[in-house]
Amino acid sequence: MLKSVNLTKKYGNFTALNELNLSVKEGDIFCLLGANGAGKSTTINLFLNFISPSAGSATINGLDVSKHDKETKQLLSYIPENLMLYPNLTGMENLDFFCGLGNKNYSKQELENLLLQSGLQADFMNRRVSSYSKGMRQKVGIALARAREAKVLLLDEPTSGLDPKASNEFSELLLEMKGNGVATLMATHDLFRAKETGTHIGIMKQGVLIEHFESDEVSFQD
Ligand code: ADP
Ligand code: ADP
Repeated sequence: MLKSVNLTKKYGNFTALNELNLSVKEGDIFCLLGANGAGKSTTINLFLNFISPSAGSATINGLDVSKHDKETKQLLSYIPENLMLYPNLTGMENLDFFCGLGNKNYSKQELENLLLQSGLQADFMNRRVSSYSKGMRQKVGIALARAREAKVLLLDEPTSGLDPKASNEFSELLLEMKGNGVATLMATHDLFRAKETGTHIGIMKQGVLIEHFESDEVSFQD
């Protein structure tokens, strides 16, 4: 579903990403690991078409991401480290609003179910998002991905700053999405969690994918 061929991003003389080749298929959770500045966000941002490559290509379903129409974009869901929601609206209202932008209209009951399935407690749904923990906001993000029936998830450090419980819950949700055939590309610092939930692990260093393996090929021992 997601594929990059010699994907490269330069800023002046500086190469943020150098000839990246990867593919992420249905039901894959591809975790990009690496130190700050390794090029993880750059990769995610290229697939989102937030930035343009200097060379090479990023495709989703065989189509260059710069050529995606509105319909194809609907297949994509992006959850950054800090999801932007309207703080003065409730979780329900946020979900309703963002679904509407994608021309999907759900009944109140359906919105509630989406949030419940994404692990948001019922008594929070009608409270303002400003009272939510970060983990709760990320659950709204997952609910939105489900609502849009996203087939591709792009995640940039989605669990950084979450406590272990919230982080576990988030992993569970990712595994559920994987079960539904979603293709996930996730930038993360968390080796342990990458090992736990990832089907593929890529290690990036200074813009280069230096290692790449399927996660059951590795055993991490200290
Ligand atoms: P990571 O997500 O792995 O921390 P990034 O992809 O954010 O790394 O950044 C890779 C490198 O590219 C870093 O050295 C960063 O400073 C640089 N970089 C990112 N965006 C820009 C930009 N707009 N202009 C110049 N350099 C940038
Ligand atoms: P992340 O935590 O995802 O690595 P950063 O804090 O590195 O994010 O970058 C945040 C934003 O600033 C990104 O859009 C990135 O492209 C941009 N950026 C990062 N490094 C630079 C830089 N050296 N010059 C200009 N923009 C940058």
